[in-house]
Formats: sequence, structure tokens, C-alpha cells
Amino acid sequence: MIHTKILIMAASIALLTACSNGAQSSGESANSAEEQKTVEETAAQKEDAEKAAAEKAKEEKAAEEAKAAEEAKAAEEKPEYKLNPAFWGFEPIDNANAKAVLITIDDAPDKRSLEMAKTLKEKNVPAIFFVNGHFLDTDDEKNVLMEISDMGFAIGNHTETHANLQGISEEQQQEEILAVSKTIEETIGDKPKFFRAPLGANTDFSRELVKKEGMLLMNWTYGYDWNKEYMDAAALTDIMVNSELLQNGANLLMHDREWTAEALGDIIDGLSEKGYSFIDPNKIEGVE
Ligand SMILES: [Zn+2]
Repeated sequence: MIHTKILIMAASIALLTACSNGAQSSGESANSAEEQKTVEETAAQKEDAEKAAAEKAKEEKAAEEAKAAEEAKAAEEKPEYKLNPAFWGFEPIDNANAKAVLITIDDAPDKRSLEMAKTLKEKNVPAIFFVNGHFLDTDDEKNVLMEISDMGFAIGNHTETHANLQGISEEQQQEEILAVSKTIEETIGDKPKFFRAPLGANTDFSRELVKKEGMLLMNWTYGYDWNKEYMDAAALTDIMVNSELLQNGANLLMHDREWTAEALGDIIDGLSEKGYSFIDPNKIEGVE
């Protein structure tokens, strides 16, 4: 009997101890879980704040970069020269180099334009190629235009069939101007930004239309390659470099011709040796 009592007591104590241990241990783990939760919450809050700060810094940096890029673009697109119709040449705006000339190649892209573009590119000289629609009938011709445009040269409108605008109706003038612009846009993805009338023969109607189409109309300061005595590379080089008409801002007219293609490199070297730089058509005022 006593033996049984002792056994029960021992069991009770054991049970009590077990319960109390259990309670203690579970209480402890509840406390530490709560603490852990608080620690975790604090860490999460800290992390969120850090994230937000990083996000904000990132946004600020992106905004700064966008602003800088915009400013650089604006500086790059800022016109440096303006056309002076008194000599169809260019005057510097602000601090642009006055001793500069513009190279233009008309009647492109006939037979020599691609070769001429390569010569210019090699010498890092920009230029405008004034093209005619009748030289853009085939895919091969259009590919040549695309190649010239991809090389970075400006493409100008020189009418569809090289017609004298002063000798045709307004309806025909419109067709002459718009048809080649359409072909150019379809080929290179951009409308032409410059216009030069064949023979420099403009009309009030064509002037208005050219303006409406967003093109800058220009004639030229001097050119010689259509004169018999200059249908020779050496003679043409000499006159293009030493002409008394050479002046600051001169607008130089050349054509897609065999002798001009042959002379082009030497003409550029001769002008460079005289201290002239070359005007980038993209830096001309009135051109977007
Ligand atoms: Zn022409």
C-alpha cells in the first residue's frame, strides 16, 4: 500500500516536473519567437527604407542622365551655319569656324555617286547628294541611295526628271518635286531636307512648295564641272581649289561625273591645305 502511494507520488512529481518544464520551455520559445519577429520586422523596415532610398537615387540618377543626354543632343543639333542667299553660301552662327565650305554633289545617284561617297567618307568630309527620281527607278539604284544615306550623307531633292521648273506648269512642278521626295522617303525612311532646282531655275510656286515640304532651298556659289575645259580631273581640281570665287562659307557644286569623281579627293585635299574645313549639312539652320 505504502509502496503504491510512493509510486503515485513519484509519478505525480514526475508529471508536475514535466508539465512545469514543458510550460517553461514553451513560454520561453514564445518569447524568443516574438523577439525574433520584432527583429525581423525591424530588419524588414530597414530593408524597405534602404530599397526606397536606392530606388530614389536610381530615379534621380536616371533623370540627371536624361537631362545630360538631352543637353548633349541639343548642343549637337544646334545649328552652326545659316544660309545667305546673297551668295548661296553659309555664315557661322556663334563660334562656328567661318573658314568652311559645303560640298554638294548633284545628279545623283547616277554612275559615280557611290564612289564619290566613299572618297568623302575616307576623308571624313560631309556632303549633300542631290538626287533625281529618274536615277531611282530600280532596286539597285535605290540600294545605292540607301548605302550613301547609311554612310551619313544628307540627301537632297533635285526633282524627278531634272526638268527646268521655269518651263513647266505648276501641276508639273508639283509632280517633279513631290515624286522624288516620296521615293527618297520610301527608300531611306526620311524626307529630303534640302532642295536644289535643276539649273538653279526656281519659281514662286516651287519656292512655296519647297518651304511647305520642310526643305531648305539652295543654289550654289560656284562650280565648273559642266564646262568643257574642266571636264578633266587636273583642270577641275585646279579651278575648284584656286577659283577666285572661293570664300568663307562657299557652297561648292559638283556632279556625278567621271572627271569629278576622279578629282574629288584632290579637291578636298587642296581645300584642306588652304585651311578650309567642311560644313556638316545637319548643322545648317532650318534643317531638323
Ligand atoms: Zn542637275
